[in-house]
Amino acid sequence: MDVRLSEDYLPKFDIDDIVLMRNAIVQSFSARIGDKPRTQYVSDRTSPYVIFSKDSGDGVEQNELSDAEQEILQAFKAWRSATKEYTKTLISSSGEPVLLTRRPLLTTDEIISNKSRYFNYIGMVVGCFDKVQTPKGSYTRTLKLTDFTTNPHPYIRDEGAFADEGTVGIVSPDLILQCTLWDNHAHNCPELQYGDYVLLDNCNRNSNSFERKCLEISIRTSNDRKQYVVKVAKHDSCLAPLLKRKALLEARLEGAKSPEIEVLQHGIRTRDIHDKQTIPVRELIEMETEGMEYVRAAIVQYKPLDIKSWLRDYCRKCKRTFKSTIAEQCEVCEGLLKPVYQAGFVLEDKEGSKLVAWVFDEAADRLFNEYPAQRLKNDASLWPEFEKYMILGHHQKNRPYFTFGIKKYYYSLGTFTEGWNYCIVNSELIFEDD
Ligand SMILES: [Zn+2]
Repeated sequence: MDVRLSEDYLPKFDIDDIVLMRNAIVQSFSARIGDKPRTQYVSDRTSPYVIFSKDSGDGVEQNELSDAEQEILQAFKAWRSATKEYTKTLISSSGEPVLLTRRPLLTTDEIISNKSRYFNYIGMVVGCFDKVQTPKGSYTRTLKLTDFTTNPHPYIRDEGAFADEGTVGIVSPDLILQCTLWDNHAHNCPELQYGDYVLLDNCNRNSNSFERKCLEISIRTSNDRKQYVVKVAKHDSCLAPLLKRKALLEARLEGAKSPEIEVLQHGIRTRDIHDKQTIPVRELIEMETEGMEYVRAAIVQYKPLDIKSWLRDYCRKCKRTFKSTIAEQCEVCEGLLKPVYQAGFVLEDKEGSKLVAWVFDEAADRLFNEYPAQRLKNDASLWPEFEKYMILGHHQKNRPYFTFGIKKYYYSLGTFTEGWNYCIVNSELIFEDD
């Protein structure tokens, strides 16, 4: 809409100020004969301005405004505060200033309810996958990100048995938002590692989000050379809200540790593997290849916390695991069920690096060698004893360190299921009686 302002009465205002004009007239206006008439607001000395400056606050007492004016003003203010953070220039981690598209900055948990078609996003990198070419010849690259708010519809892998498979570091799947970069953005994406912070410019929700029943975003192909994925320096103030949420999560995981119980000095340890050289957890996370390494780490948390739910029934024929029941035959094919464990351990080494490692099947039976899955399925009275050792194993004050063999592997049953995973293998806990 054009606004023709009579300069004599024009107050000073800046970009971002909200201007309320009263008694303005709408006129039809053609610059030349034959032009399509355009409407414009015209104001003169009878049209007082009210400026709501972004710096000096409101130019008028709120109660001087009518209800309708109030409503409009509040809507503008909400929009202004949503976009305010981007009016500043961001400095990327390489020191380059980055000019951002003026879009609202949304957190993962705001994306569904916010009506903006395009938005910006700040997140921590959980995974950055190789570029792939689609059958139609486009290129895509998938990023797994978190801003430590909850994704109401996270991508969950098909295997229902392992609902929280895919946790990376401290980031569980419900905190992860997947973003697909298309074509020029897939090519221009900077090199990213776990723990990097990025700002994504001009994202939108994937249109198939509802059909797929999961919330994902993407940056669509564009014909410019601008960098839409920008690595953000750790000290940039735009990260403050995210870092605060991250610190809260870390504190919560710390607090979820075992209750105070009687401490046994050496109640539990791993079988000594003298000839195995261990590497720091950080090094294992940064490794770009699959492989098997040993780490020396404490168990800071295990999940699920209810260890009875570690026990599952596996059907070899159906290649599926089920919730453990007293049944010995598969409901689907009547094949014999094999009791197995599936659990996740948050491991932390002396440098403070954390990793979620899964333990399952034969490797789990070996790890818990005195309490294999079949034994616990046969004799449920053993659970309290087993649990006592597990609680000791990750006791806060008397934190024992264990040597674990960790297999790192790339899980890639499909574009949206891929990612690095870690599982405990070739390790054995020894439970010593007091
Ligand atoms: Zn079966």
